[in-house]
Amino acid sequence: MMIGIPRERKSGENRVAIIPSGITPLLEAGYEVVVESGAGLPAHFSDDEYRHAGAIIAGDAESLYRQAQVILKVLAPDSEEADLLQPESTLICLLDPWFNRPLLEQLAARSVQAFALDLVPRTTRAQSMDVLSAMAGISGYRAVLSGAMALPRYFPMLMTAAGTIHPARVLVIGAGVAGLMAIATARRLGAVVEAYDLRPEVKEQVESLGADFIAIEVPEADTSGDGGYAKAQDEAFYAAQRQQLADCVARADLVVTTASVPGKPAPKLIDQDMLHRMKGGSVVVDLAAERGGNVEGTRLNQKVDIDGVTLVGHVNHPSRVPVHASQLLTRNISAFLFNMTEDGHLAPDLDDDIVSATLVTHHGQVLHGAQPEITE
Ligand code: NAD
Repeated sequence: MMIGIPRERKSGENRVAIIPSGITPLLEAGYEVVVESGAGLPAHFSDDEYRHAGAIIAGDAESLYRQAQVILKVLAPDSEEADLLQPESTLICLLDPWFNRPLLEQLAARSVQAFALDLVPRTTRAQSMDVLSAMAGISGYRAVLSGAMALPRYFPMLMTAAGTIHPARVLVIGAGVAGLMAIATARRLGAVVEAYDLRPEVKEQVESLGADFIAIEVPEADTSGDGGYAKAQDEAFYAAQRQQLADCVARADLVVTTASVPGKPAPKLIDQDMLHRMKGGSVVVDLAAERGGNVEGTRLNQKVDIDGVTLVGHVNHPSRVPVHASQLLTRNISAFLFNMTEDGHLAPDLDDDIVSATLVTHHGQVLHGAQPEITE
C-alpha cells in the first residue's frame, strides 16, 4: 500500500507530516512511501534525505495523489487539493471537523475515508498519537517567547551595579497543555507567574511549576466536561470571570490566554476596559485567536497596539518551530497509523475507540462535524 506525503499548501505552514527519519518505520511496517518534491524543505528536510531513507519523490501533487492510497498530512486540504484524492483513499490529518463541514461533505462525496487527528481521545493509550497536546506545548512555549520579545522590559530579576531590575509579572489564563508550557517557559526565563483556569483541578499542576493559582469566585457551575476539557458557560459566568480577573490582568506585564472549549467560540475573558487598565508597554498574546480570541480586539494573525498595550493574535505558532513540530507529528501520526495497520495494509477496526472517535467520513457519509460554524 502506498503512503503519500504531500507538501503543505497553506501559506505560512512550514511543517511536514513525516520527516525522513520516519520513513524507515513505515517501510518496515510494509508500506511504500511517496513524498512530494519540496515537502520537507520549509522544515529543513531535503528530497535527498527522503530518497536516502527509501521514499520515492513525486515531482508534483498530481503525481503524488495519483500514486497514493493513504495520505498523511498536517492540515486539512483545501477544496482543490481534496479533489486530487483518489476515490476510496484514506486521509489522515488535522481536519478541524467542527468548523469544516463543507470539506467533510466533499470528502464523503469522493468516498474518501478521512480521520481527524483533532479528535484523538485524550486517553493514556492514545497519548503517543495526541497531536493536539504536542502542538499545544509548542504554542505555549512560543507564546511566551514572542511575548518576551515584544515586551520593553527584562523578564528576570537582575541586581546590577546600575540598579535592581524587578522580574516581569506573567499571567496565564487557561492552564491546559499550552498554558502549562507557557507557565514553565516564563518561569525558566525568570518571571513571576500567576495562572488561572476554570477547572479547579489544575491548581496542583500550576503550583508544581512554581506559579500561583488564582482562585476567583464565579457563579456555581459545572466546569469540567468530557475528556478533561472545560465546559462552555453562559455570558453571566464569563462576565463574572472578567470582573474578578481585572486586577490580575492590570498588574501583569505579559498575559498569555489559551482558554478554549472544543467546538465552541473562545470565551471572551479580557475586554477593552481591562486592556486600558494595563501599564503602557504590556503585552497580551491571545492563543485562542483562531476561535475568535479570548481578548476583545484580537485581530487574526496581527499584532495591534491598543492604547500602548501590544495585543498579539498570531496563529499556528507550531509552524514557527517546524523541525521539532514535524518530528513530534511524525511520531504522533505514525503511532496513529500503526494502530490501524496489519501486514502493510490499513485495516481500521471500527470497534477500536481511537478509530471510531476519529473517523469522520466513511462509505460516503459524514460521521462527525455536525455542529454549527463559529459565528462570533
Ligand atoms: P483546551 O485547549 O481545550 O483549553 C485550554 C484550557 O482553557 C483548558 O485548561 C480549559 O480548562 C481552559 N478554559 C476553558 N474555558 C475557560 C475559561 N472560561 N476560563 C479559564 N480557563 C478556561 O484544553 P487542552 O489544553 O487541550 O486540554 C485540556 C485537558 O485535557 C488537560 O488539562 C487534561 O486534563 C486533558 N488532557 C488529557 C490528556 C491525556 O490523558 N492523554 C492529554 C492532553 C490533555
